[in-house]
Parts: sequence; structure tokens; C-alpha cells
Amino acid sequence: MTCENSAELIQEIAREFPGFRLISKRESPFSLALDRVLKLLTFGAQRAYLTHYHTVIGKTLYTPDTWASTGEVERMIVLRHERIHLRQRQRYGLPLMTFLYLVPFFSARTRLRPRATRVGGVSRNLASDSGAPGRRARALAAPA
Ligand SMILES: [Zn+2]
Repeated sequence: MTCENSAELIQEIAREFPGFRLISKRESPFSLALDRVLKLLTFGAQRAYLTHYHTVIGKTLYTPDTWASTGEVERMIVLRHERIHLRQRQRYGLPLMTFLYLVPFFSARTRLRPRATRVGGVSRNLASDSGAPGRRARALAAPA
């Protein structure tokens, strides 16, 4: 079935995943709390959780502030994208999906705090001592 607009697509997703719904993060105490936890865990690097990120938890799509001003085409793209996450979760289970969700938040922190990756310099020295300076050193120095 081809959906003409985002409202239809939401209904279609709800048929595939009964209970599917959209909630504004700003109006969700749970999302507000999660926002504070993310800011703490990432030392403030993740500040866009409420304003820019769409998040599916359970059967709920938590929408950011930008949702209200998002056009139909982009809404359809977001909804199709998030439907993939719902299907992935069905396939892989909740714990793994939760982990995969959190990974980008932590790598964002690494990108914004380059000094943290300097640990790789130490690894490189250790690798040289063991006579394997090349590939292994690069692997150790690669950001997680
Ligand atoms: Zn995604």
C-alpha cells in the first residue's frame, strides 16, 4: 500500500505494530529525564536529544521540537526510517537495539573530545615494542 501522507503512514505502521504512537519529547517526562541523563553521560556533548533526534522506544516514536515544522516529505522519510528500527527490534530484540541506539551518543562524545582518543598514542608505543607497529597500532588507535 502506498501512503499519500504522514497521517496515513502512521496508521499503516500502527497496523503492523499495534500501539504505535507519536509523542512529543517536550511533553514526555520520560524523555525529559533521558535528556538529562544523556547530557550527564556525554558531558554535555549530546544536547540535541530533545530538539533534533527522533527516538523509537517500545512502540512510541518520540518526536523532537523540529517535528512541528517538518514538511510532509521529510516526515514520511523519518517515519519509514523509524519503521525500520521497529522491524530491527523485532528481529534482534530490545537489549541489542538499546545498545545500538546509545553507541552514536558515545561516539559523538569521542569526536567532540579529541584528547580522549590520545590514549591511542600510548597503544602505538606498546605495539612498537611488541614488534607489530603497523596494522595493530592503527587498530588500537582507531576511535571506538
Ligand atoms: Zn535511525
